[in-house]
Amino acid sequence: MANGADFFQFFWPVHENGYVWRDARKDMEGNTSMEPYLTLKKPLTDQRMYEPLTKKSGLFRTFASLRPTKSEIANFANRYGMLGGDVDAFIVPDASPSPVEVGESLSKWKNEIILMKNALTLWDFAMLNDRKGLAQHIVWEGTGMIKCRMTRFRGCVASRELRAHLLEKFALGDLVKPALYQVNLFINESIKSRVTLRNMWDQDYKHHNLHALPNGLIGALWLQFANAFNGTKQFRQCSCGEWFEISPPITRKTRKHCSSACKQKAYRSKKEITQ
Ligand SMILES: [Zn+2]
Repeated sequence: MANGADFFQFFWPVHENGYVWRDARKDMEGNTSMEPYLTLKKPLTDQRMYEPLTKKSGLFRTFASLRPTKSEIANFANRYGMLGGDVDAFIVPDASPSPVEVGESLSKWKNEIILMKNALTLWDFAMLNDRKGLAQHIVWEGTGMIKCRMTRFRGCVASRELRAHLLEKFALGDLVKPALYQVNLFINESIKSRVTLRNMWDQDYKHHNLHALPNGLIGALWLQFANAFNGTKQFRQCSCGEWFEISPPITRKTRKHCSSACKQKAYRSKKEITQ
């Protein structure tokens, strides 16, 4: 079996010139409906590669904490790239005649943020054993059904017809286990078509090992979420908005900033205040 770092090796590009919103329509026969799409800012420049899974292990939390506005999404993309995978679409920007290019619609970004926010909300309430918080989302109807309701989501965790065995496994009225079960469903639903397994050679063709292969950043974010959900990872938010892991031995528990750049910035502004 592959070791952790190997299994999660994944590089993702960030366009150096950044990203902009443009009104465009999906490239389909006769389609005329326009929508804002995130696209590469012209002129096209080099792309910087980074490793979200191993070097930015709290990125799924950063993503879920976004307000789904054009400016916050563009800021996120300028730091971490587009979502890729099935979020990508071939589009025709409004300035015609314009060639077809790849873009990501505002509505898809919004959906993805909401979905991850939903899953994280449930997980965080469950981890804190917050019954009041969970009761807003997990509802027992008598002894025969457990429902889940989140933003833009209505689902059934278990009923006499669906996963009936869970009704026996979960203590009547328990909200934590059904919430965690629903988080697991969200994760599986989101990674099933977005992460594949490949057995791959190293660069020198000496060794081969099993790798998880996300279809884009969106697949990587859910893989990251799954990995955090299965472990005991803890995260903290930096003043710049980025969430980072504070699980020893990767980082000290007392660490307050995501990078030395943010640490220095905070130090300088503190100095300015005290001067
Ligand atoms: Zn930071």
